[in-house]
Amino acid sequence: MATATTTTRGFSVLCLRCAEEETVRVDVHALHTFTCTSCDAEFSADDVRAEMARWEKLLAWLDTAPAFKGGN
Ligand SMILES: [Zn+2]
Repeated sequence: MATATTTTRGFSVLCLRCAEEETVRVDVHALHTFTCTSCDAEFSADDVRAEMARWEKLLAWLDTAPAFKGGN
C-alpha cells in the first residue's frame, strides 16, 4: 500500500521567478503546476518549456557564433 501522505515533491531546479534552488514543488494533484516555497510564484510546465526554448536558442547560437576576439 502506497503511503501518500505528501502531496508535493521537491526537485533540484531553479525557480523561474526568484532563482532559488530546491524551492519548487510539484503538486501531485495538479501536475504541470509548480509553486515556489520561497517567493510563492506559480508557473506551469509550459512556462518552463518556454524558458528552456529560450536557452536552447542561445545554446544553438553559441555553436554557430564567431569567436569574438577582445580588443582586436
Ligand atoms: Zn521563487
